[in-house]
Amino acid sequence: QKIQQTEFMMSAPTFRLCPPDMGLEVAFAGRSNAGKSSAINALTNQRQLARSSKTPGRTQMINFFSIGDTDRRLVDLPGYGYAAVPLEMKKEWQVELEEYLVSRSSLAGLVLMTDIRHPLKFFDEQMLHWANDGELPVHILLTKADKLKYGASKNALLETRKRLKKLGLNCTIQLFSALRKEGLDELAGIMGNWYEY
Ligand code: GDP
Repeated sequence: QKIQQTEFMMSAPTFRLCPPDMGLEVAFAGRSNAGKSSAINALTNQRQLARSSKTPGRTQMINFFSIGDTDRRLVDLPGYGYAAVPLEMKKEWQVELEEYLVSRSSLAGLVLMTDIRHPLKFFDEQMLHWANDGELPVHILLTKADKLKYGASKNALLETRKRLKKLGLNCTIQLFSALRKEGLDELAGIMGNWYEY
């Protein structure tokens, strides 16, 4: 797998301060606690590349990582779902986020992490609709798959697929466990296609 030699590039407090819209980037998104930092760290094989901010309501940064010596980037979007964030800030943030998903030319794909025990919450679906509107490819990780028995995890996968179909959302989906390092090759394969390796 080629998502190696990942290096921290920069943090941006808003999308207006992103790096130039060149090359190719893949963004990671999910509710706080969905397992995003763990997934990024397992994927890049670096223990502490992504650090999750656990302070409710605190403004989180958009973190950019460069991959090797290329113009490819991995983007760690702030986790969402904390009710403590002031409403106005949330609105402003959502407008920017939608704009980013729909208009960012270098954005080749979105990896959405959702906990296998309660997948696709309201804002996850919001993200999926925006991505679909912008014709942005999405790959969903059902995270913490180790929390369920094999049969139950397969069932969750089927049920979530059904739900996506019902919502008219076109995306790929897989089981993932950062703890057991399961699903890494599948994820790296999808990202490799987006990065045009
Ligand atoms: P983030 O807020 O989305 O970045 O989530 P974290 O990666 O910090 O994970 C949130 C919590 O879920 C932590 O307590 C992790 O140890 C736990 N976690 C993350 N991935 C897994 C996994 O694959 N399996 C299990 N059992 N727990 C996980």
